[in-house]
Amino acid sequence: MNPVFADLPVTVFETMSRLAREHGAVNLGQGFPDDPGPDDVREVAAKALRDGYNQYPPMMGLASLRSAIAAHYGRHQGLDLDPETEVMVTSGATEALAGAIFALIQPGDEVVLFEPMYDAYLPLVRRAGGIPRFVTLKPPHFRLEDEALAAAFSDRTRLIILNNPLNPSATVFGETDLSLLAEYCQRFDALALCDEVWEHVMFDGSRHVPLMALPGMRERTIKVGSAGKIFSLTGWKVGFVMAAPGLMRVLARAHQFLTFTTPPNLQEAAAYGLGKDEAYFIGMRAGLARSRDRLAKGLSALGFTVLPSAATYFLSIDIGEDDDVAFCERLVRENGVAAIPVSAFYETGRVRNLVRFCFAKTDATLDAALDRLSRRA
Ligand code: PMP
Ligand code: GLN
Repeated sequence: MNPVFADLPVTVFETMSRLAREHGAVNLGQGFPDDPGPDDVREVAAKALRDGYNQYPPMMGLASLRSAIAAHYGRHQGLDLDPETEVMVTSGATEALAGAIFALIQPGDEVVLFEPMYDAYLPLVRRAGGIPRFVTLKPPHFRLEDEALAAAFSDRTRLIILNNPLNPSATVFGETDLSLLAEYCQRFDALALCDEVWEHVMFDGSRHVPLMALPGMRERTIKVGSAGKIFSLTGWKVGFVMAAPGLMRVLARAHQFLTFTTPPNLQEAAAYGLGKDEAYFIGMRAGLARSRDRLAKGLSALGFTVLPSAATYFLSIDIGEDDDVAFCERLVRENGVAAIPVSAFYETGRVRNLVRFCFAKTDATLDAALDRLSRRA
């Protein structure tokens, strides 16, 4: 129950992107946008590089970024965060997740995971000696059920790891789901690691509710965000962690020995970008919603059953009885389109009929993929 990393398979994102390169495929697998990201944010990063932001910044992050994070979440989500004691900058959300898992779990602690789950969670939990307890969410609604929570929580539950909005299902947990979860966390005295990297990528007017804002959760939630998703700059790897001071002190101990710091020019640019006005966020969501609709319409016209997408860069199709891994391999080799088999996000649930596509692409890219799919044998 403490597997060595050498036994792990290569992540599905790397595997599919490599296959896409090998087969000259249109890559709708790994989630990265065609959009180059906002010019002004990239310009601030370039200028900071020229202006000498090139040495180790403070371990907790640049003061400018920590203040910008606190102000941003105050404005957008009504959170009251102290930038000095409750905010830390990490190298992507991935580092924040790894640090929190390593810092908070002792061998033998139980960790509640909700599948489909982002692929980094389980290997990290196991490596930390945690015992995973799965709550399986089923398509098409991926809702939390009281019964499943009751079966997963116990007196040994130390942590839950929730992703909201949820990648890959593109669903959103609202107030009702979160209240139920908050009740369980309090009843079993569990901490909540809430991966909210998709918090700004939500469509059709829905609003993100941070788990941390629910009654009783302020002191027990570790909230994680990512500049990569906020600015369509996924390679930047600037993440944020927010937690009450006592928890933050522990998280910082892990961070100091994982990466210690994050490139300062990118931090400076993220600080600038987080101050962008509402029009930026509205525009980003509108552009992505248009792309979502274009791909959904095209796939439906080809006869695929398309699941709704309320958030993220992704939508899924239901391929019926097929095997999603075999389907994706055929798609990339024979049709030149890369996608992600959703079974990669499940450990125990036998969900093998969904295939995820990334729609954060130009119209030309989406149309090229649809054209290739239309020529399926
Ligand atoms: N969590 C989830 C749910 C994600 O989808 C991603 C990447 N798309 C990450 C974490 C990683 O974020 P980062 O690139 O900031 O490390
Ligand atoms: N989060 C991105 C996705 O879901 C990929 C991140 C990665 O490549 N690890 O596609």
